[in-house]
Amino acid sequence: MTNFDILIIGAGISGAVLAERYASAGKQVLIIEKRDHIAGNCFDYYDENKILTSKYGAHLFHTNDHAVWKYVNQFADWYTWEHKVVAKVDEHLVPIPVNITTVNKLFNAEISSEKEMQQWLSENRISYNPPKNGEEAVLNRVGEVLYDKMFKHYTKKQWDKYPAELHASVLERIPVRDNYDDRYFSDIHQALPKGGYTKMFKNILDHPNITVLLNTDYFEVEDQISGYEKLFYTGPIDRFFRFNKNLTEKLEYRSINFVREEIDQEYFQENSVVNYPGKEVDFTRIVEYKHFGNQKSATTSIVKEFTVDEGEPYYPVPNEKNQTIYAQYKKEADQLLDVHFVGRLANYKYFNMDQAFRNALDLFESLEIKLPKQHQR
Ligand code: UDP
Repeated sequence: MTNFDILIIGAGISGAVLAERYASAGKQVLIIEKRDHIAGNCFDYYDENKILTSKYGAHLFHTNDHAVWKYVNQFADWYTWEHKVVAKVDEHLVPIPVNITTVNKLFNAEISSEKEMQQWLSENRISYNPPKNGEEAVLNRVGEVLYDKMFKHYTKKQWDKYPAELHASVLERIPVRDNYDDRYFSDIHQALPKGGYTKMFKNILDHPNITVLLNTDYFEVEDQISGYEKLFYTGPIDRFFRFNKNLTEKLEYRSINFVREEIDQEYFQENSVVNYPGKEVDFTRIVEYKHFGNQKSATTSIVKEFTVDEGEPYYPVPNEKNQTIYAQYKKEADQLLDVHFVGRLANYKYFNMDQAFRNALDLFESLEIKLPKQHQR
């Protein structure tokens, strides 16, 4: 394994974007991927009911970043999809983010204007300026009752930590609305790729200069690889240094156990995603994939998500302790001039998909802006 210029570990968003950028600039690229498929956690497939299903949880693309939107449109046709989530609270199904309908249903209220909703919020919220952690962030937005009903236990199940033990930014991902808007996101572009993410990744990687080696753990073959100019590593940063420098302190990650059930009826639930923020069940949410893109089938499947400690790392756990450990690894990483750490796991950041695209594109620009842009698509 010697005749290439750029070595990339991981075929998720960051790895695929860097591969495409370097290949388009005339470089020979080798991607090494541990799993038996490309697309990282965006990987999707058609199940036995011919329903497009994501193997690692629902992935909803949303962005305000026009350059990223333009970039992804080169590799897929997208259709508008405004994601909606309901939460099962006290036997009601209520919109999340919290909006007028949420409050009316849960408290038998009759709010009917933004002004009345603002009034309700100002009577209930507890002001923290700025909120120092996730608990204060939610109390600051919606107050104690909704905190207890919708955020406290969901967060404990998701992170094995209460909101007070997490950065405010984690809980601030969910806004509060003073109107009837029941969309999960408010970005300008909200869409899904026709035919799925895996198809899009195939298109991104479809270049004669790109070779993808699946089923290969980089740390088992690194001795056999040489001669490349640059290495891009997209796996967990602590794993890299455990193997290379014997640094031992582990960063925390959360993984998800996906438990699939076949149901002999046309639909199981009214929505693609139903959150279960209460203590009565251990899973956080149930996803019924056929709702995405209004797919049809005679029977259905659902996936319950149980967040767990062990397993494939999906989520970094943003709090002080982990940031301190990460800073030590980052210091090591900065000394390796020809190795670049990119993406959610290597940067230990809770990136959304569009941020992962943006980051990889920015890294390429910052390193290679002078490269001639051949084969531009
Ligand atoms: N969250 C919650 N209740 C919900 C949904 C989310 O408490 O019904 C909290 C939880 O801590 C979660 C965070 O808000 O981790 C961010 O939610 P998001 O939907 O962005 O999480 P993701 O989709 O990335 O798992």
